[in-house]
Amino acid sequence: MIMFERFVGLELAYYRALKKRASLPREDVKNLAAQEKGYAGECVYDRIFDEVGHDSVYVFRDIYLGIEGRAAQYDSLIVSDDGIVVNEIKNYSGNYRYEKGTWYIGKSPVSDDALSQLRRAIGKLVKLRYQVQGKFDISGKIVFPNIEFRLQSSDDDLWENVVLRSGLRSYLGQFKNMYAGRVGEDIAELIRSHIVPNTYFDKYADFSAVRKGLYCSECGGFELENRYLYMTCQDCSKTEKKETHVLRAISDYKALFLNDKLTKQRFMEFIDYKVSERTVFRIFNKYCNQITKGKWTYYEFRYRDFDEAYQNHELLNRYKDKV
Ligand SMILES: [Zn+2]
Repeated sequence: MIMFERFVGLELAYYRALKKRASLPREDVKNLAAQEKGYAGECVYDRIFDEVGHDSVYVFRDIYLGIEGRAAQYDSLIVSDDGIVVNEIKNYSGNYRYEKGTWYIGKSPVSDDALSQLRRAIGKLVKLRYQVQGKFDISGKIVFPNIEFRLQSSDDDLWENVVLRSGLRSYLGQFKNMYAGRVGEDIAELIRSHIVPNTYFDKYADFSAVRKGLYCSECGGFELENRYLYMTCQDCSKTEKKETHVLRAISDYKALFLNDKLTKQRFMEFIDYKVSERTVFRIFNKYCNQITKGKWTYYEFRYRDFDEAYQNHELLNRYKDKV
């Protein structure tokens, strides 16, 4: 049972939105690629776990737990009556080697030590268990879901702690023999009660520097022809509803300007007045909560991102591409 779904993380959402509206410096291009790769690996892991089935256990995907005043991130936690299993997912590809506590790709040492990360992640849960005087097991594995990943090591301790893609299906299959009853439920509740927001992410785009307007979802072009309810891309001819465009812009705004209030004036500026204020108002009311404080009115997007909002509004789906 999935207790907590995986979503595109704040950092990946930020870079994806920024890339559409600014040219990224090299460092950010690298960050974006790393984020995309990590997320893709997590999705492979999730898909295989979904296929194998996880009905008898509780699964938490991509959560932050507040333990001893700090937030710790977990890619996947599996809870049963036996305890908690931590899966640290690493979408590495290429030929890796592990020797005496160091990872190498080819001959170069890798700065991340996945094994220490796993141990730290387990260690934090051990502290949590201690706080509640719990009596359950806590263990974990580093999962490498990439089919292009090769690992060499003579370290038995490491092999005890890793799952490669070739063994992933049978590894995840073993959770079908586990069961979450009263004890598992209590552990899941303990985890749930410690979930905190991601407090590490603090990137914020420069409003004056990002490109204003609306862009085509197909080719990214900003030259759109206005046709009543629709807009047509002048580069690739893709036609999309205005509503879809505005929704994507609301999602971008949220990703780029974390904690910055969404007001109608600011949003109109963000989309370079490409649709009327009346249209924006109608779409805000459909997808956002209106908050009024004295003379000030702002909006809060009711969804995590474009995809979640889009999936929740069937009508929009039905008409998006059929023009
Ligand atoms: Zn286009």
